[in-house]
Amino acid sequence: MTHPQFPDLPWIDADLRIDSHVLADVEAHALAEYPSECCGFLFGPAAEPERLDEARREVNEADKYHRLDPETFPRTSRTYFKIHELRAARTLEEGAAAGRPLKVIYHSHCDAGAYFSAEDAATFAHEGLLTWPADHRVIRPSDPTE
Ligand SMILES: [Zn+2]
Repeated sequence: MTHPQFPDLPWIDADLRIDSHVLADVEAHALAEYPSECCGFLFGPAAEPERLDEARREVNEADKYHRLDPETFPRTSRTYFKIHELRAARTLEEGAAAGRPLKVIYHSHCDAGAYFSAEDAATFAHEGLLTWPADHRVIRPSDPTE
C-alpha cells in the first residue's frame, strides 16, 4: 500500500510493528511526563517499512509557547503538545539520508482517548494533507498513581 501524498515512504501506510523495548520506552516516557503530554519520534530501517526499532524523546514545548504568548497558545502541556519544528525537519532529513527514517511522531493524551484529535489534525494536516511525512500515533497513559 502507498500513501497518495508520499508514495516513496511505504511506512506511512504500513501496518507498523513496534519492537517491545521501543514500546516500553514510549510508555515510560508517557508516564514520566504525566500529567503533561509527551511527544517523540520513532525510527526504523528503511528496508523494513513496517518496523519501528528506536524511540527518541522530544521536549513538549507547549508550556514555553503558552508562557510567551498565551493568546495564540491558550493550551498548556496538559492538553497540547508542540514539537520543535526545526529539529523535526532536520531529523526527518537526517533519518532519510541515513536509511533510518523517522516514521512516526508519537504523543500522549492524558486522561483522554488515544485518538487523533481535531487539534492534532489542525497542527499536522492542512486541507487533508499531512504537514510532515510521518505517521502519527497517539498513546493514552493512565494515571500512574491509580
Ligand atoms: Zn493530541
